[in-house]
Amino acid sequence: MAFMSILTAKDLCKSYGSGESMVKAIDHVSLSVESGEFVAVVGSSGSGKSTLLNMLGGLDTPTSGEVTVSGSDIFKMDDEKRTIFRRRNIGFVFQNYNLVPVLNVYENIVLPIELDGTKVDEGYVRTMIKTLGLEKKVTAMPNQLSGGQQQRTAIGRAIVKNPDILLCDEPTGALDYNTSKEILKLIEDVNKKYGNTIVMVTHNDAIKNMADRVITLRDGTIRKNYLNENKIPASELEW
Ligand code: ADP
Ligand code: MG
Repeated sequence: MAFMSILTAKDLCKSYGSGESMVKAIDHVSLSVESGEFVAVVGSSGSGKSTLLNMLGGLDTPTSGEVTVSGSDIFKMDDEKRTIFRRRNIGFVFQNYNLVPVLNVYENIVLPIELDGTKVDEGYVRTMIKTLGLEKKVTAMPNQLSGGQQQRTAIGRAIVKNPDILLCDEPTGALDYNTSKEILKLIEDVNKKYGNTIVMVTHNDAIKNMADRVITLRDGTIRKNYLNENKIPASELEW
């Protein structure tokens, strides 16, 4: 089999509204991401980052164009099939954590396994919880956690099924400087330790320096797409 990118977008478009008030949130975007790659998508607010990421992960449907994940065209699937595919192959991390408030840390983390009806590998989950630095918080409820702990929990939930792809939308957007750096370091560790392919969108230009590749967006189009020759560890980023 020929070498295949793990994630591709072809001529992706998403517009909202029509006529005079039409907004082209994503305008003919094509890209491909290699397995294990860490890609940063940067652009100012309103440039289309979230719209793009949601379509790459099948959370939102394009007006036209296609997305393939591990060779499967995700918008050729019906909604149910795409939901199952997404749960098994793609993890999402959002700015506002999106934890389930009535579930504790452990229950939030294993939720995708429960939803999938498969068995929890306790050993694997315990090790992961240690990597996340949450071993003392497993029975805490989300409202008893700091922002950083909530995001750690959300990252755990996103990677518990060891997805091929981890998509992060401004994962540090609601966190202070030091906590942001801890979370970025954790995402970097996840990429190294578990080998998940990562696409992280951010409006913080400094964060792009930790990625293998940088894609810049402006008004829904790709302005630049380049390999980062001078990768800086998350712990050494400054802004
Ligand atoms: P970013 O994440 O880079 O801030 P978004 O992807 O959220 O950008 O938005 C890109 C553009 O699409 C913006 O002009 C935004 O106003 C518009 N947009 C996003 N979602 C919607 C929506 N549901 N309805 C109308 N316009 C939208
Ligand atoms: Mg956004």
